[in-house]
Amino acid sequence: RLEIIQITSGARELDKILEGGIETGSITEIYGEFRSGKTQLCHTLCVTCQLPLDQGGGEGKALYIDAEGTFRPQRLLQIAERFGLNGADVLENVAYARAYNTDHQSRLLLEAASMMVCSYDSRQCYSSLQNRFFWKRRIVSEANASGKFGVAVVITNQVVAQVDGSAVFAGPQIKPIGGNIMAHASTTRLALRKGRGEERICKVISSPCLAEAEARFQISSEGVTD
Ligand code: ATP
Ligand code: MG
Repeated sequence: RLEIIQITSGARELDKILEGGIETGSITEIYGEFRSGKTQLCHTLCVTCQLPLDQGGGEGKALYIDAEGTFRPQRLLQIAERFGLNGADVLENVAYARAYNTDHQSRLLLEAASMMVCSYDSRQCYSSLQNRFFWKRRIVSEANASGKFGVAVVITNQVVAQVDGSAVFAGPQIKPIGGNIMAHASTTRLALRKGRGEERICKVISSPCLAEAEARFQISSEGVTD
């Protein structure tokens, strides 16, 4: 079994309620209204996942599947500088794909999963590829895969804020692998909302191990900060 690693969000207060950060081995869903910080948090994680373990990183790489066209490499460079990482190296470690529709998005996820299956066990990958259906089913059944591959999966959802402050789903920006099969697969759900100015609030909505706490953070040119 792979060890669970926590990847820092960039904000200490936020990491505190997450008991270290976004964890590997499961799916974290981040939802919130427009400008609440979903994209900025994902940009920050693309950088922090590359940090050494003792600095809250995963010594890893990121795959960013962008359904809205808001990925900005320039932002990664600014965030990299804050963490003292080489900008070119950081960009090198982020694979990017723009998803143009739901089908395309599913295909990209499947491709990504198959690449991970290959590096996870090349023999398994070979035999699975003999039968596409088996292969797909296998990936879906293992798409808790995040657990086997030791990756942290983060998906974002936009929601529309109600007058009373509660939120209603406006539809997923990114559909989990397997469509409906995986629709409710996220293990941890985080709700973001706007505070005053650049302040944002994150609340843990559901988690197998975290309290339903709230934390405040800021969005700055250096990504998510306290
Ligand atoms: P949407 O649902 O519209 O995609 P979102 O939740 O993804 O929204 P973000 O794009 O993460 O929202 O956050 C937008 C906020 O981040 C804006 O308030 C913007 O001012 C702030 N922001 C973006 N870039 C910078 C920057 N370089 N410096 C400071 N703040 C920034
Ligand atoms: Mg966004």
